[in-house]
Amino acid sequence: MLSTDKIISGKEVAANIKQQVKRDVEKLNRQGIYPKLSVIMVGEDPASMAYVKGKHKDCAECGIISENITFPDSITQRELLREIERLNADSTVHGILVQLPLPKQIDEYAVINAISPSKDVDGFTAVNVGNLNIGKDCFVPCTPQGCIDMLDRAGVDLMGKDVVVIGRSNIVGKPVATLVLKRSATVTICHSRTQNIADKTRNADIVIVAVGKAGFLTGDMLKPGAVVIDVGINRGRDGKLCGDADFASCIDVVSKITPVPGGVGLMTRANLLKNTVKSAQNIGK
Ligand code: NAP
Repeated sequence: MLSTDKIISGKEVAANIKQQVKRDVEKLNRQGIYPKLSVIMVGEDPASMAYVKGKHKDCAECGIISENITFPDSITQRELLREIERLNADSTVHGILVQLPLPKQIDEYAVINAISPSKDVDGFTAVNVGNLNIGKDCFVPCTPQGCIDMLDRAGVDLMGKDVVVIGRSNIVGKPVATLVLKRSATVTICHSRTQNIADKTRNADIVIVAVGKAGFLTGDMLKPGAVVIDVGINRGRDGKLCGDADFASCIDVVSKITPVPGGVGLMTRANLLKNTVKSAQNIGK
């Protein structure tokens, strides 16, 4: 197989999702509903600012109204909670997103869980996390859903497959493990205290890596023909964006792999739009 045939590109899938979102927005507009996303940004972290800029651009492309609410690093938790309360009560706002990380004086859990679960388009509140785990309708977090979208795109049937997830964060590792379990895969979750990770990944049909370390997953850690979903976003030594998988050594071993950039990250962005529209569609249900 040519190495290009092995690459699961996110471009086409993201474009299809955006097309559908655009059609859904137009339909909602005809009903007098104008989907709106409010993004709260605290401080001036350059990476966060770049992500937020991308989110507004995506919204504009699909006809979703978006607003940026910025606060200085010095904001108190009480002030932030007051703003979330205001947005919860504003019926023109369908999605509320608090860009993470937050400054140290603020309890991230308290802030995230102040968001009304019905407007929690990131799917980070305890209510949505709980509903995801018990298999009820909820806002599914955008990146984990993006991993599933990429597997679907590659035509990978998860049923009965051995999946290793590396990383156990609340925003990626744990929810993606829940989603693959829902598709009847057998899941192993690895983390910084896991011993002999390579022994586990070498037995896996699919490896989902979300560690935040460039080149962490190498080809010798994989079973021939494995599928790799690379969630990582890192800067390599050359300053370029790269994933957690060492692409050069993995490509010869895998049957499929997602690229960075152009892979899961695009799906994350597209799924935020999808969740915002879903929230607007839920009105009156
Ligand atoms: P995180 O909260 O820092 O979690 C990293 C996880 O990796 C932790 O569970 C940690 O284990 C584990 N880990 C760290 N070093 C390890 C090691 N040597 N061996 C095994 N496991 C190790 O990160 P995150 O928020 O999940 O993000 C992970 C990566 O995905 C980052 O590069 C981030 O930028 C990227 N990301 C991408 C998207 C996207 O749209 N593509 C979205 C979100 C995040 P412990 O729990 O034991 O500490």
